[in-house]
Amino acid sequence: MYSRPRTLEEAVHVLTRQGGQILSGGTDFFPALGDRPAPDRVVDISGLTEIKGITIEPHCIRLGGLTTWSEVVAAPLPRCFDALKSAAREIGGIQIQNRGTIAGNLCNASPAADGVPPLLALDAEVELVSASGRRRMALADFIVGNRKTLRRPDEILTTVIIPRDLDDAASAFLKLGARRYLVISIAMVVAVVKVDNTGRVAEARVAVGSCSVTAQRLTALEQALAGAPARPGLGSAVLAEHLAQLSPIDDVRATATYRSQAALTLVGRALDACVGGR
Ligand SMILES: Cc1cc2nc3c(=O)[nH]c(=O)nc-3n(C[C@H](O)[C@H](O)[C@H](O)COP(=O)(O)OP(=O)(O)OC[C@H]3O[C@@H](n4cnc5c(N)ncnc54)[C@H](O)[C@@H]3O)c2cc1C
Repeated sequence: MYSRPRTLEEAVHVLTRQGGQILSGGTDFFPALGDRPAPDRVVDISGLTEIKGITIEPHCIRLGGLTTWSEVVAAPLPRCFDALKSAAREIGGIQIQNRGTIAGNLCNASPAADGVPPLLALDAEVELVSASGRRRMALADFIVGNRKTLRRPDEILTTVIIPRDLDDAASAFLKLGARRYLVISIAMVVAVVKVDNTGRVAEARVAVGSCSVTAQRLTALEQALAGAPARPGLGSAVLAEHLAQLSPIDDVRATATYRSQAALTLVGRALDACVGGR
């Protein structure tokens, strides 16, 4: 049974009543089917205009779950969103960016999902709505494994909420694949750096994806960077031990050793990019 509700209220009631797999842009949903037929019950939420688009509020920015990557690229957003915009520009090609949504990327929860590290670095939270109410949690808690999240089957991810404490911070996203464009990440890195009025790092955030089952914030490195002079060369503060929490795997795209070395190099470059370096 295929249903295409027009309101969020209707959608959550359909999910409660009859269950079904949520379909949004379909850019992960359909490729994942391979040769199998579509599931018996599909709830197509692409008509829910109320969870589409970006709202800028005094203390937070709300990205509707149905916001596409093209809409993220086109939106006027604070500087700290530059990394998210760069990631959006590298998610497939233009056609994929026109259809693929933020919520789809987060709920699919691939270790190589390019939207996750930039949102982790922005301390994003997700809001989930079901017929029994709404709940909110940190994105860092929401994704718990390879394609595993804490979303219950009757819940729709409606909103990604980002606090505005780092609006003016510089941010950078670097993605390494086997070729330059249209590629699944071997490693991707995000750095966000806020500088104080003495030219030192007031706060740094660093996240790495594709190098463990879930993308990770490098909190030991973030702490080590606080107070450092915010000038080119900042990236040389990164040591292999700062990445020790990562657990890269060998797969068709790269070996674990290559991923570790690539992540180390990318973290240094992303930090330098935030302070006017490479
Ligand atoms: C050619 C191609 C290239 C790609 N390149 C990249 C890339 O470079 N980087 C990258 O990260 N991804 C890439 N992708 C994957 C994909 O485009 C993104 O992950 C996209 O953001 C998925 O969004 P969607 O709306 O299409 O999700 P869908 O395919 O509609 O859904 C994905 C999953 O999330 C669930 N879901 C969707 N929306 C919600 C919601 N609001 N609430 C609860 N559950 C929901 C669905 O049930 C499904 O399980 C690529 C895909 C293709 C086909």
